[in-house]
Amino acid sequence: MQRVAILGFRHEAMIACPFLTDPSTANIWRGAEILDQSLTTLTGLTDRFAREPDMEVVPLLMVRTLPGGAFARDFYDAIKQESLDLLRQHGPFDGIVVANHGAAEVEGLGVHGDTDYVVAIRAAVGPDVPIAIPFDMHGQVTPELLGALTVMSCLRTAPHRDNYETSWRAADQLVRVMRTGLRPRKMAVNIPIFVPGEKSMTSFEPARELFGMLPDYDARPGVVEAHLFVGFGWNDLPWCGMKAVVLTEESDEQARDLALEIAERTWAQRHRFGLGMETADIRDGLLRARDAAAGPVLLSDSGDNTTAGAGGDLCFVLEEALDLGLVDIVVAGIFAPEVVAACQAVGEGAALTLEIGRHISAAPQPRTVEAVVEALGDRVDVHRFQNLRGSDGAWARVRIGGVVATFHAARVSFTGPGHLEAVGIDPLAHKITVVKVGYLHPAQEDMAARHICLLSPGVADLDFLRLRYEHIARPSFPMDGAMEWTPSQGLFGPA
Ligand SMILES: [Zn+2]
Repeated sequence: MQRVAILGFRHEAMIACPFLTDPSTANIWRGAEILDQSLTTLTGLTDRFAREPDMEVVPLLMVRTLPGGAFARDFYDAIKQESLDLLRQHGPFDGIVVANHGAAEVEGLGVHGDTDYVVAIRAAVGPDVPIAIPFDMHGQVTPELLGALTVMSCLRTAPHRDNYETSWRAADQLVRVMRTGLRPRKMAVNIPIFVPGEKSMTSFEPARELFGMLPDYDARPGVVEAHLFVGFGWNDLPWCGMKAVVLTEESDEQARDLALEIAERTWAQRHRFGLGMETADIRDGLLRARDAAAGPVLLSDSGDNTTAGAGGDLCFVLEEALDLGLVDIVVAGIFAPEVVAACQAVGEGAALTLEIGRHISAAPQPRTVEAVVEALGDRVDVHRFQNLRGSDGAWARVRIGGVVATFHAARVSFTGPGHLEAVGIDPLAHKITVVKVGYLHPAQEDMAARHICLLSPGVADLDFLRLRYEHIARPSFPMDGAMEWTPSQGLFGPA
């Protein structure tokens, strides 16, 4: 029986977010309970291995986090050490799946987080055990990471609807290299384009065409798989940027030529990356939603997008809604432990004077409001739902004039109607619902009559020209808009 270990920590870091990632915003599963979660990033993989009667999957450790600030160093060190210990205690293994995202960063490490983790695993298991990684397209690849992994897959849709297929392909490749001894050749190009996920959605151009062409590359003789990474453009780090990565069966030259070609085709489209959805500033977006013929209108507070790792603590949209005197509107998912504590102190049904707007990830803008506590809870029970992320923090649902707002003692992401139901809100009953995302997640797309992306301020600002970059490679686009570049400048291989 051949044995395949599954482990990893799936984290997307926004290093400008002041809230470090620690166990309070992470789900940690060990052993068989990992597979009980039916994570779509793993089910494709386990289904694929189920077709191989002589291969056994051994789940060891899986950490899944809410996107947020960098990993707290002691938390990361503990996860990494436990991973290495588990591999030693339960090994040896014939193959390893590291189910990471690719955009992990660690407080004070100075090295890309996923790279540090996978390089450590490679060092522990030696050069011969194949390692597969099913990446998110918003991750990064470095020369050292390319050197440490054996095979890889990467998401091709945003919003992400192909976790299952991506996970399947990683397992399929791992089975192949375990059976045949094949060791693919790998080449990559760093493409100096910085775009947020909202400007590279595969439901519109140019990302639809760029990601849509990848299966044609996969189908060429000699190609194992071709990849395009959007990367995580908010992070001002030297390893950030888009990437083209190609794995071939035996030819470095073919991998190089195809990576250069994908990079060239991507670069040629750089001016077309833009927002394909309806957008507005906060005030205008609220007014358009108020005047819309039908709801629910979903407004996304993109600058404070917790699914991109922003803090979730900003009240700009809530305050504007109050100033406009709007009614029949829900503002969901505000991180404000002190507001929750104040509501708990008076209890459900009680009226109180609340201070809101004590921002930490932006300049504070405090104001007092008269509120009624509608409901309190100990946790946002999201574990029943696929593709939704949250934590166990207490919450308070509060009515302030015509606005219903939910405040949370831990950071949370409302990514589907299930989150609203979990705090006692009928997702379809209100004209306007504001959530802290950028693009809508699939379940939100399905429920919204209309979506308006609010171009709100915050660390997840969609206009990168408003951000400061000091550590990325320069020149880069769009910061150095008129720059010249040819793909061979970005070429790199495994280190
Ligand atoms: Zn992603």
